[in-house]
Amino acid sequence: MLKSADMSLDSLLNTEKRWMKYALKEAERAAQAGEVPVGAVVVKEGVIIGRGHNQVEQLQDPTAHAEILAITAACETLGTKWLYGCTLYVTLEPCPMCSGALVMARLARLVFGAFDEKAGCCGTLHNLVQDKRFNHRMEVVSGVEADLSAKLLKTFFHQQRMRPENAQNN
Ligand SMILES: [Zn+2]
Repeated sequence: MLKSADMSLDSLLNTEKRWMKYALKEAERAAQAGEVPVGAVVVKEGVIIGRGHNQVEQLQDPTAHAEILAITAACETLGTKWLYGCTLYVTLEPCPMCSGALVMARLARLVFGAFDEKAGCCGTLHNLVQDKRFNHRMEVVSGVEADLSAKLLKTFFHQQRMRPENAQNN
């Protein structure tokens, strides 16, 4: 009994990792464009229906976070304003804005990678996506491929510090 439960947990984790790989790919795209590497995908019934990576610099828009762009793309795909039955995979714990957007979009599940000690609102500083006072809550799975997500961010910020124009600040 215990064994089969363990096995299904294993296969669930493999599924989560598989989708997180696509979010990591999006994060890499952000890094290549000189953006803080965070990526997200929205999955419904085994299909990616929206992707996004951080584009704050390119768009000069503080709301252009990976999750917001992925949610917008998913809503466009479905032609609906809500994302019932969908899971959002994101490499970093969502900030207050994105956590709010996840609730507003009525996602069923959130799977994230690394925790964000400075802005995380899905367990770290707050837990907006599971606050019973809101009219919608979701299941949360955290720490999926957290090391890979954190490594991308660490490498990015290290490279930023190494840039000649930033060297004097260190
Ligand atoms: Zn955000």
